[in-house]
Amino acid sequence: MTGGAGFIGSHLVDRLVEHGDAVIALDDFSTGRRDNIGRHADSGKVRIVEGTILDDALVETLVGDCDRVFHLAAAVGVAHIIANPLGSLQVNSRGTENILAACARHERKVLISSSSEVYGRGGRVPMHEDDDRILGSTVIQRWSYATAKALDEHLLLAHAAHGLRGVIVRYFNIYGPRMDPKGYGSVMATFVRQALAGDPVTVYGDGLQSRCFTYIDDCIDGTVLAMETQPAEGQVFNIGDATTEMTIADLARKVIEASGSSSTIVHESYEQHFGAGFEDTRRRVPSAARAAERLGWTAHVGLDEGIRRTLESWGQTAPD
Ligand code: UDP
Repeated sequence: MTGGAGFIGSHLVDRLVEHGDAVIALDDFSTGRRDNIGRHADSGKVRIVEGTILDDALVETLVGDCDRVFHLAAAVGVAHIIANPLGSLQVNSRGTENILAACARHERKVLISSSSEVYGRGGRVPMHEDDDRILGSTVIQRWSYATAKALDEHLLLAHAAHGLRGVIVRYFNIYGPRMDPKGYGSVMATFVRQALAGDPVTVYGDGLQSRCFTYIDDCIDGTVLAMETQPAEGQVFNIGDATTEMTIADLARKVIEASGSSSTIVHESYEQHFGAGFEDTRRRVPSAARAAERLGWTAHVGLDEGIRRTLESWGQTAPD
């Protein structure tokens, strides 16, 4: 697995080990953390390898040592992409190219993690896997992430046409224990951190933009099902929970309430936070119909329960 020490990757490691699999977890520890998989260090079940997916020789060897590959390593997070556009693009495009080429050579089945970000600004909702993608200009750095992830999807599908067995999942705002509160700071991680510290909760823009939030356990269920369902090969699946749609302003209120925090809500303009020329996605809602039909996947953890579990875990491992 690539990205095995990251937020999603480490939960997938846990699940695979629970199922009795041995795992090679490759991570460059740029945003992944040793703590996330530390519990497996002495189990003999997980081999942790520090390295980058840009290292062709390393990738070639490790893919040869596996029977299937979950490719989760990526430069993630809007703030991170904007701060480091070149490095992010290289990891997210060339890194995936390396992984797929090695999987093709070794005839290993591969799952790649893509993102709801590929839909861009979005047109109609809910978003179906075959819908058009609507992206802004190339001078807006944000869209480089969607572009790289879309290229990854194209690469996998092109390899599949030559016989590679592979599948693609598009994650919709995954959250839960082990989210990185500082590194790449998704909105949920940021709000939880701010609320628990009693700091102001920062809502960007008018706060009426909305997202659907998918709890990590549901994400892992979908990921494993996508890998294990043979007829799903060569296809793309949204892994997202439409029932959890919420505006960011409402999410701020909800997190403050659930944590019993005394935090206030402050509005910041996008410009204040990201500088000039930032574009946001106004509304992002998945259709999970294909995942339900073809993978038998549905989300089980609602937003209240997911936030409760997240806060509980944060209490055990305070970020600061
Ligand atoms: N956001 C916010 N305050 C924060 C972080 C994010 O209001 O401290 C907003 C952000 O502008 C976006 C939404 O929350 O509209 C989701 O942001 P995130 O970075 O989690 O992921 P995205 O869905 O945009 O990829």
